[in-house]
Amino acid sequence: MFQNSQDMRTNLSELGEFGLIDHLTKGFEPKLTSTVKAIGDDAAVLNFENKHTVVTTDLLVEGVHFDLAYMPLKHLGYKAVMVNASDVYAMNAKATQITVSIAASNRFPVEALEELYSGIQLAANLYNIDVVGGDTTSSTSGLLISITAIGVAEKEDIVYRSGAKPNDLLVVTGDLGAAYMGLQILEREKEVFKANPNAQPDLDPYTYLIERQLKPEARKDIAPLLKELGVKPTSMIDISDGLSSEIIHLCKNSQVGANLFEEKIPLDPAVISVCEEFDIDSTTIALSGGEDYELLFTISQDDFEKIKANPNLSIIGHMTEEKEGMHLITRANQKLPLIARGWNSMDAKDSEEK
Ligand code: ADP
Ligand code: MG
Repeated sequence: MFQNSQDMRTNLSELGEFGLIDHLTKGFEPKLTSTVKAIGDDAAVLNFENKHTVVTTDLLVEGVHFDLAYMPLKHLGYKAVMVNASDVYAMNAKATQITVSIAASNRFPVEALEELYSGIQLAANLYNIDVVGGDTTSSTSGLLISITAIGVAEKEDIVYRSGAKPNDLLVVTGDLGAAYMGLQILEREKEVFKANPNAQPDLDPYTYLIERQLKPEARKDIAPLLKELGVKPTSMIDISDGLSSEIIHLCKNSQVGANLFEEKIPLDPAVISVCEEFDIDSTTIALSGGEDYELLFTISQDDFEKIKANPNLSIIGHMTEEKEGMHLITRANQKLPLIARGWNSMDAKDSEEK
């Protein structure tokens, strides 16, 4: 799993920039009626009638955000789309188009970029997103991918980070911490592999964790689910940096406080057992791990009955007056201040040493 099988090696220069763009994008036929013009002109043309559009962008840098020693390029392409789509879904909008910009050094043959694009294409197809443009250039070291995602929503459906009110319920989708523990497993196996390239790791017990790290799924289903339940969140954010820093973002933007209950944090059993194996506290991982791409939102207490039985949604706390601050209420009923220890790429300077 540590090698991208590249039997063929076509140098990027053999195709040239335009040949490469044609080659990589030839399977990308637009499907949405809102895409008027996709790849092939100076700019894409979109038409959303009188709806609101949302736009978001993310930059992924080799050695900072991903490590190709254990991240297959196809997965990387898939994940790059998910990271962006998740931000669109966090506005309670539908992701519709993306542009994809890449800079690759000549270490990458055409076949490697084909793999990257196969992941992008798979994600775009599954999430019903058109790839409508991008840019392609060379880099002196490593691979950079920047994706811009565009989405659409009715004006009144858009949810900002700023609308939470005291007494609103705090709700999270899915479960937390698995992606971070998947990364710990992959880092560990990378070291084992370095020491003994013939070792055959048994990663079966960690399948869920590794999948959550390498092939995350953005929560496309939540906006339609909430619509069906007749619930409009008062605020929403996606969990890319860890639960505690996202709660802090909601609180700061909404000028409220929050109480988060440790016992309510949803954890997959695989996270609990691997945390025991690594001797780390699973709550800490859920609070600070990051890369879960779940959605965190607040709803009015009046909507409690509508969501309480839904297996996708966990109520993990409630908002308070701002002056009460932001706290974790532990299982032992201790009240600890919530602090942001989310993963910050600006601090990821140790990537060179690994
Ligand atoms: P320009 O000279 O205006 O930058 P390009 O030759 O870079 O145009 O791009 C030609 C077309 O191909 C444009 O529609 C552009 O959006 C698209 N494109 C370029 N690179 C990529 C890429 N990496 N992925 C998807 N589309 C791309
Ligand atoms: Mg260009």
